[in-house]
Order: sequence, then structure tokens, then C-alpha cells
Amino acid sequence: MELADIEAALAPQYSKFHARRIFDSVYAQRSFDASVMPESLRFAFQPGELKESARYESSDGTVRYLMQLADGKTVETVFMTEGSRDTICISSQVGCPVDCKFCLTALMGLERNLTAGEIVGQVLHVMHRHDLAPKNRTMNIVMMGQGEPLMNLDNVLKATRILVDQRGIGMGERRICLSTSGLIPKIEELGRAKIRPRLAISLNASSEEQRMEIMPITQKWHLAELLETCRRFPLKPKEHIFFEYVMLGDFNDSEADAERVVKLLAGMTCKMNLIPLNPGPGIPFTTPSDERVDRFQKIIMQSIPCYVRKPRGRDIYAACGQLNRMNQESSLVQVMA
Ligand code: SF4
Repeated sequence: MELADIEAALAPQYSKFHARRIFDSVYAQRSFDASVMPESLRFAFQPGELKESARYESSDGTVRYLMQLADGKTVETVFMTEGSRDTICISSQVGCPVDCKFCLTALMGLERNLTAGEIVGQVLHVMHRHDLAPKNRTMNIVMMGQGEPLMNLDNVLKATRILVDQRGIGMGERRICLSTSGLIPKIEELGRAKIRPRLAISLNASSEEQRMEIMPITQKWHLAELLETCRRFPLKPKEHIFFEYVMLGDFNDSEADAERVVKLLAGMTCKMNLIPLNPGPGIPFTTPSDERVDRFQKIIMQSIPCYVRKPRGRDIYAACGQLNRMNQESSLVQVMA
């Protein structure tokens, strides 16, 4: 709930002061202790805290959470820390309907959208667990976990407004980013929102045909049209569009691919992240060699800032959807919490 939602939900005998107190207790104090609320409100307002059903710690400091929702379904949330920067990767749906061929979440299909509360709840849980405060350290939130955020845009935008409210969690708007497979009308709708995450496009291919092979959604929303939409996207000052590129060994990682990508993105205000595949069971692709990743990056860097995202948490199955799937299929994953 945003502050205005709480005000509207309170019975008339309660003032804005009470609404503010509830908002402050949940989002600023991050206290799920109902005793901080006025006694007469305790039963009316029960914070819907998510339950941590499992936690896995990687040797590289990545911590992966399996969060249980009120209906028993689970989603994945990942905490990554590096130097003075913390990143929380959150889910926006249970499963995903998009069917990218390199992604384990796709194998689950879509179960349902998350509510705004369930999206924010993942952040609150990780902040609480790791004692994080956006004012003390750089904190980023990326909506790159399970799900296609633009298929749940209303709740994603509501969650974003809650996250950036300086009376509560106090995130910087620029520090929140969502990644989409490329739903063109929804990208346009996102661009019209006053408060919104930054836009990242999950590109992953250097041509229409190649993208169709691994991202069937390209049959509906063509690559050329998608890139045109990106060119028209109303960027805020100092904003870039991020292009994410999952590198699949001997599929989209050649020098010719890199040269084609440079042409596709020519003239755009953008940056690129290369993500060597985090392999998983049932995924018919391999991780490219470091040399191929390096050569690819060098070619892109001649025209666009380009970073290689280090694979995180391989020892805890940290690729998108891996944890949920492993949990469903077997007890291969060892709980380390
Ligand atoms: S990569 Fe993202 S959009 Fe594609 S299936 Fe996986 S979760 Fe969905």
C-alpha cells in the first residue's frame, strides 16, 4: 500500500497521522512488530510479510532466497554485494509465460502475477536480513528475477512508487531497473509513467532470425520495431537504456554477432551488459569461453560502453529460475542457512 491507500483504507475516526505511523513502521522502520501500531489498528493492518522458505549462500557472497507467498507459491530473490554496492534482484511473477529458450523460469510457465506488496516485500526482507539502508550504501534493485515485469506493469509501477517514497524505503529512482523481453506497447506505457524504473532490454541476439530462435516473442514483437521503440523512449536526464545480452556458446557470441549488434544499436543512448550463460539442467546451451566474451566485448566497446557481468552464485544455482526448479524436481539443493 502507498500512503494514500492506507489513508483511504482507515476508518474515518483515524487521522492521517495514524496512516503515516503505519507507513513509517512498515517501510521506514521495517518493523513487522504489530505492537508499534495503535492498539485498535493491529487487527485491521497486518503487514503481509513474506516467509523465507530457504536461503542459500554462495562462496562469492551472493545470497539467494526462496520466498514463500501467502498462497504457498514461491519466488526467487537474490542479494549480491560487491565493494560498496549492493544489488537485490527481485521477481515480478510466479513463473513466466515468455518462453525464452535459455531460461529455466520459462520451463515453469506462468502461475500468476505478484502483487505490489509481494514485489516490495522481497526488498524489505533482504534489507532486513542484511541490514541495508539506501542512504548508507549504494543499493540497486533489478527486476530481472522470475517473470516478465511489463506483463505486470501496474503492480511493478506501484511497487516502484513505494520503493522510492523518501518517507519510507527511500530508494533513488535511478537505482531501480527492469528488464523486459520487449513488449512494445508496454514499453511505451512505461515511458509515460511519471515514476518508473529504468529500462533494460533483454536483447540476446544480433539478428531477427537468431532472436526468434531463442525468444519466440520476437514473432509478435519484431526486433526492428522494438529497437525503434527504444529510440523513441523518453529518457530522463543522464538515463541510458541498458541492453542485456546473454551469451550462448557458439550461438550468439561470434565477432560477426558483435559487429551486427553495434549496427543495431548505432546512435542510441545506451549501455550494454554481457552475461555469459549460467548453465542449468534442461537448457540446451553452453557458456562461452572467456576469450570469446573478451573479443565480443572489445568490439562493442568501440561504440558503446559494455560491461561483462560476472556469473554470480554458480554454486547455489543462481541463474534465473534455477532454484525454484531444482526445489520442485529434487532435493539436490542443499540448504545452507
Ligand atoms: S528470460 Fe525473463 S522473460 Fe524470458 S522466460 Fe526467463 S524470466 Fe521470462
